[in-house]
Amino acid sequence: VSGPVTSADAAPGPGSGAPDPGTIEVLDSRTSRVGALEVRRALPKRGHRTVGAWCFADHLGPVTVTEPGGADIGPHPHIGLQTVTWLLAGELVHRDSLGSEQPIRPGQLNLMTAGHGVAHAEEAAGPPPHELHGIQLWVAQPSATRDGGAAFEHHGELPATDLDGPATATVLVGTFAGVTSPARRDTDHVGVDLDLRPGTTTVPLDPAHEHAVIVLAGAVGLDGGADPVTPGHLAYLAPGRSDLALTARDATRVMLLGGASFPEEIRMWWNFVARTPEELADAAASWRAGDGRFHPTGSTLPRIAAPSGPV
Ligand code: MN
Repeated sequence: VSGPVTSADAAPGPGSGAPDPGTIEVLDSRTSRVGALEVRRALPKRGHRTVGAWCFADHLGPVTVTEPGGADIGPHPHIGLQTVTWLLAGELVHRDSLGSEQPIRPGQLNLMTAGHGVAHAEEAAGPPPHELHGIQLWVAQPSATRDGGAAFEHHGELPATDLDGPATATVLVGTFAGVTSPARRDTDHVGVDLDLRPGTTTVPLDPAHEHAVIVLAGAVGLDGGADPVTPGHLAYLAPGRSDLALTARDATRVMLLGGASFPEEIRMWWNFVARTPEELADAAASWRAGDGRFHPTGSTLPRIAAPSGPV
């Protein structure tokens, strides 16, 4: 589950104005396609191109894939970002240019660091039909690591904690409610799966972070608001908050993202995160030429061609 990003998603644009920590901004996701599958793209958004270092969020499914190969994403490159893959249902197999071959199931984390360059492919495990439900996120790498080596981590189990209310948090990245994930983290950011049961749960937030709530299943009221937030929406919370009340009427799953506002202006195009158009063009040229920057993945699927551009 992966990219690409177009200039419509990711063009630099005006900010959203002065942040008010009390305001919750609800933004519609954009429908996009990844391979044969439709996704709800919650990030990037004009006005909120990043939330902390989180720069991309595709919510996939729940869907039943009936065609052979219908969940496959062939080999494609990345630079300057980490991919964070998290499933609620189904199973995918990840193969990358570091030699990794790793199945992933619900509750497990695949975290791939692209650095100067990596390529990977993802396909469903076994024959169809495949149930699939998940989210793929990208984290922009800071200058300190973005030109460094590629890496891949699989975490078969992540720390979880019961919260102050009928809910359980699983910490993918960073520290939340006193629990710290073992996953690599190059910037000050956090990613948490919240499994909410009926009732209200108040969760602690780091006031130095901005946050986003992406609803994966069910519906959630935020701070007692009358209109619950549903799948296909991202709620943005400006820095300055120390907690958030989440109210669910039925079983609800949300992804809570947070982080210190990313200090650098990034440029995103296709599967790349960089700082300049030249860096994007260089990466695209390397992928087209097969010049050795991106190594083979071990997948038998055909490589995905870079689109024209970058623009
Ligand atoms: Mn990818």
